[in-house]
Amino acid sequence: MGVTESDARQTLHRVFGYEAFRGEQEAVVDHVVAGGDAVVLMPTGGGKSLCYQIPSLVRSGTGIVISPLIALMQDQVDALRALGVRAGFVNSTQDLDERRSMEAQYVAGELDLLYLAPERLRLDSTLGLLSRGEISVFAIDEAHCVAQWGHDFRPDYLALSVLGERWPDVPRIALTATATAATHQEITQRLGMPDAKHFVAGFDRPNIQYRIVPKADPKKQLLSFLKEEHAGDAGIVYCLSRNSTEKTAEYLCRNGIEAVPYHAGLDAGTRARHQSRFLREEGLVVVATIAFGMGIDKPDVRFVAHLDLPKSVEGYYQETGRAGRDGAPSTAWMAYGLQDVVQQRKLIQGGEGDEAFRRRAASHLDSMLALCETVRCRRAQLLKYFGQEPATASCGNCDTCLAPPETWDGTVVSQKLLSTVVRLKRERGQKFGAGQIIDILLGRKTAKIIQFDHDQLSVFGIGEELAEAEWRGVVRQLLAQGLLAVEGEYGTLVLTEESGSVLGREREVLLRKEAPKPASRSSKGDR
Ligand code: ADP
Ligand code: ZN
Repeated sequence: MGVTESDARQTLHRVFGYEAFRGEQEAVVDHVVAGGDAVVLMPTGGGKSLCYQIPSLVRSGTGIVISPLIALMQDQVDALRALGVRAGFVNSTQDLDERRSMEAQYVAGELDLLYLAPERLRLDSTLGLLSRGEISVFAIDEAHCVAQWGHDFRPDYLALSVLGERWPDVPRIALTATATAATHQEITQRLGMPDAKHFVAGFDRPNIQYRIVPKADPKKQLLSFLKEEHAGDAGIVYCLSRNSTEKTAEYLCRNGIEAVPYHAGLDAGTRARHQSRFLREEGLVVVATIAFGMGIDKPDVRFVAHLDLPKSVEGYYQETGRAGRDGAPSTAWMAYGLQDVVQQRKLIQGGEGDEAFRRRAASHLDSMLALCETVRCRRAQLLKYFGQEPATASCGNCDTCLAPPETWDGTVVSQKLLSTVVRLKRERGQKFGAGQIIDILLGRKTAKIIQFDHDQLSVFGIGEELAEAEWRGVVRQLLAQGLLAVEGEYGTLVLTEESGSVLGREREVLLRKEAPKPASRSSKGDR
């Protein structure tokens, strides 16, 4: 293995062990190997790394990779070393000795790839170091971070324009998974790459059918989905907790579906065994936390099911994207309910990270909820999220296109619900979640209702027109629309700034009509 390797394809086979390039990879690699600048927009999991790793190996010198994800550098470098690639990194987690040794290897021309955090390039010493070695290519990962109006701006990225000024002959490749057209333009402008060739991979996965159903009895819903549409198929079921992956796998096995759990708490041997069975066997179901899937390359995964809400649209897209790599019809199915919203909001509020981090997590969740609650085409919404224009306004291959949901005027029921929340707010010190609010609306004399005299409230029993499940749907949709919020570890319901406009009858609330029972459709009977 060495930098004299001259054929990109050979490197792909020999070093990485892959049969063929995927999608735009080959075009990108050829362009960069030939010395051209490139801007690459490709979904997460699409295979961006090879786009700069192979040119780094094929061209003479060291490939310099700028990445803000310091926490991942060690893993990336370890994975490359396991393939025999001479990779290293320099970042703030290293002690001085390690850094010195890495720098010496670079100067001696003993590295194929060197990963750097962007802030290092602000230091003259780093620029000085780089000029003492030979550079094959600059790769700027997460390039959308340079866009000031983007969601992830990092000031350190602005300094990267120096690379083109100081090393005009070294090709640069900027990569990102999310970019609106405007961000895309900003990348080329701020990095000073006016002549870069743009490679935009399509994000659409037309063979994947997207479906999101209201959660009632999730395990049972999953079972009938599998039995009716995917009997004998291989697939992945994602759950949030390790415990529920095990319970769900057991449940499926008891009901005649071969399933194994997969999560980081299992010992390495079990994990490896389950993973290799999944790759080898035809119809195994893996019930997993998100720990499963990184680097899994199985083309005939026929479905990906979510029993819990992913934290972001990026996560949802990446996980569902593991279905149908072979191009055959596949399903992305998710059951989603009120508890998901409450739980995730609580996780964000009680979680670590600073205010900015929490705000970002909340906005990711909001986009995910918007996708769940939309009455329009899910595919179109997904594509727009990633800054791509859908080919048609409705795709004909998602649940909302196949059976457009009806909406209804939920203004009055929303007012009833919000007024109940207002009443309870006045009771000092007491905090109540959705369960108590719904019991009040339904006029149920439970022990907890009696204990707090809630049967004495004027709103007691004013909501008998809806059943409990329907009320939960209303709460969930109001949470998703930002007309209601949850607070604290018990999931207390509270009003938002927007709630007032509903209570004051200044606005209408449109709600999505939900099937009383989870709909089971057989639209895929041709498979
Ligand atoms: P990204 O950086 O775009 O999120 P990665 O570069 O991490 O994606 O690649 C995602 C996965 O796809 C990795 O497991 C990688 O090994 C695999 N992969 C990438 N290119 C190919 C290919 N041409 N053939 C097979 N697997 C590939
Ligand atoms: Zn659609």
